[in-house]
Amino acid sequence: MRSARVGRFIASVLWAALAVFPAWAGDPVPAVPAPTVDRRIAITFDDVPWVMLRNAPPADMAAEHARLIAALRQADIPVIGFVNEGLLYSDNTLRPERVRMLKDWLDAGFALGNHTRWHSDLNAVGPRRFKHDILDGERLLRPMLAKRGLKLEWFRYPLLRTGATLEAKHDVDAFLAKHGYRVAPVTVNSSEWVFALAYRNAIAAHAPEDTLQRLRADYIAYMQAKFVYYEQRSVDLLGYEVPQVLLVHANELNADTCTTLVAALRARGYRFVTLAEATRDPAYQRPDTYTGALGTSWIHRWAKTEGRPDSFYFGEPRTPKWIIELAGVSPSFE
Ligand SMILES: [Zn+2]
Repeated sequence: MRSARVGRFIASVLWAALAVFPAWAGDPVPAVPAPTVDRRIAITFDDVPWVMLRNAPPADMAAEHARLIAALRQADIPVIGFVNEGLLYSDNTLRPERVRMLKDWLDAGFALGNHTRWHSDLNAVGPRRFKHDILDGERLLRPMLAKRGLKLEWFRYPLLRTGATLEAKHDVDAFLAKHGYRVAPVTVNSSEWVFALAYRNAIAAHAPEDTLQRLRADYIAYMQAKFVYYEQRSVDLLGYEVPQVLLVHANELNADTCTTLVAALRARGYRFVTLAEATRDPAYQRPDTYTGALGTSWIHRWAKTEGRPDSFYFGEPRTPKWIIELAGVSPSFE
């Protein structure tokens, strides 16, 4: 037990050193020593079938979507996608090619969950409207799953905002339970969406391939650093590495990098498991009284509930400045 703990400590120091000196940046698969820890992870995709369809669907969305599904299939890992049914419509008309995209997820053997119809922010709209959005988010999804003998089981809170007060939080959690839902947590939280925005902008501006390559490499290095950070926070809080849950989105960046990311995680010793298996760990039963506006990791929520000092949260990797500028988001977003 003691030597295992020492081993884990040495491994975490090694990973920390590697995070500070990401020698692999630019390499397709980082060469790292075999880890001594049994690492598990569930991969979850939000805003399925594709991010930001309401604003400006990318011209080659069908090809990007096909590439993402093919890469995930090739990786041979369990995946769950969280659907915004509102994204299936354009000009109030149901778009069959977008419904087809959902069927592609199911045909690939992946699970689907509810992410509300309109991506509502519970903290802004309040429980009454939010509950409507939950039910509106399953109109097509529930029968689509039932047709295949599948159950609609998982719900992901948009923006990871789970209620501005304990009363609202308990109210919606109880509503979800009554409708047979389990809440999908996230432990590895990141600004992947900012990288994805930057990537979309770079492609739209016909940026040279070496810029796109640099962006992809910086994204993988950033995600590696996030893993180091959350592995360590988990050990600090729980004394072991919890089976992690990663949140990313259905977007062009992940279509082009998920093969590299999966390989990098495998090199870190991760086994890919379902959300159900990951959340079987007792940590996921811990009390969570977090009511803040920051859509933060469940590890942070458990720590906040325990009253951990500010120093517990220090050291979270930041998004590179050039990515923030290219994405066109406010530098204060994180
Ligand atoms: Zn979302």
